[in-house]
Amino acid sequence: MFKLSETGLVVKVSRGVRRIVRSLDSDYFEEGTDYVMSQPKRVELSRCMPFIVLHLICLLGLIYKPSVFTLSVAVALYLIRMFAITGFYHRYFSHRTYSTSRVMQCVFAFVGATSGQRGALWWAAHHRIHHRESDKPGDVHSPVQNSFLWSHIGWITSSANIPTNYAIIPDLAKYPELVLLNRFDWVPAFLLALSLLLTGNYLQAAAPQLQTSGPQLLIWGFFVSTVVLFHGTCCINSVGHVFGSQRFDTKDASRNNLLLALITLGEGWHNNHHRFQSSVKQGLYWWEIDVTYYVLFVFKHLGIISDLKTPPKNWDRAKVLVKAPDKVPV
Ligand SMILES: [Zn+2]
Ligand SMILES: [Zn+2]
Repeated sequence: MFKLSETGLVVKVSRGVRRIVRSLDSDYFEEGTDYVMSQPKRVELSRCMPFIVLHLICLLGLIYKPSVFTLSVAVALYLIRMFAITGFYHRYFSHRTYSTSRVMQCVFAFVGATSGQRGALWWAAHHRIHHRESDKPGDVHSPVQNSFLWSHIGWITSSANIPTNYAIIPDLAKYPELVLLNRFDWVPAFLLALSLLLTGNYLQAAAPQLQTSGPQLLIWGFFVSTVVLFHGTCCINSVGHVFGSQRFDTKDASRNNLLLALITLGEGWHNNHHRFQSSVKQGLYWWEIDVTYYVLFVFKHLGIISDLKTPPKNWDRAKVLVKAPDKVPV
């Protein structure tokens, strides 16, 4: 009798633990992934709420006004994480424009996830579909097929776009550590927020001349920086397919835009990118500023990455002669 109730307790506890783990697992869907992905693509108010709350939290910055130190941290975290999105999530995981070690790709996925833009595998899967179906009905965030607002943020609020389509990314899904990071994609961002809060509290006492505090560093260093970073990235999908010039006839609406290139560390040369998707370099002329490429070039010389793919030497002729864009990795 005693043994039976003991077993019952173990079953209850293990069920409880399983339930908690599932609720924290971004890849777990009670109804099944296929069912969720088959739902109609539409803006869902309930899924807008986290974004609204995130923006509202930023208003607390009016109460906790930033010191120069805090603002510097916020800007630095914007730049580092924008680079992680463009250099790692986009140019490595989505397009495999260079090679790196298994350890480094795991580090890249972790750093990228501190941006709060989901896991590397989710990001890469959607992005590969974007290139396969550019501005056609299958493109998940096309401003040509849907509204500008949908391409900017609406598509992320649709349940159908929440699961990771692992069929698109077999070359990445074979690494269990990447899948684990994708399942618990919120952990790196949470750890960043927590470390900012703790660091701010420590500095308030240890270095009062910095005029910072835990809440101030958390709000500006994490929330404000993350929201600005989010909109900067989203602009590639919206602005990058509406405003700017087209050098190549890529049969889509991708544009080159200097302002966007400055905001996103080089991703604004989006029409170039749609033409040469497998190139690590998106700025084709010296004046097409592409900070992500410059940093990756340094990474190469430090031995962190290798096999950087660049456009063909005769790319200028390709402008006229070759119309078909590169193919996505798989
Ligand atoms: Zn791309
Ligand atoms: Zn695009």
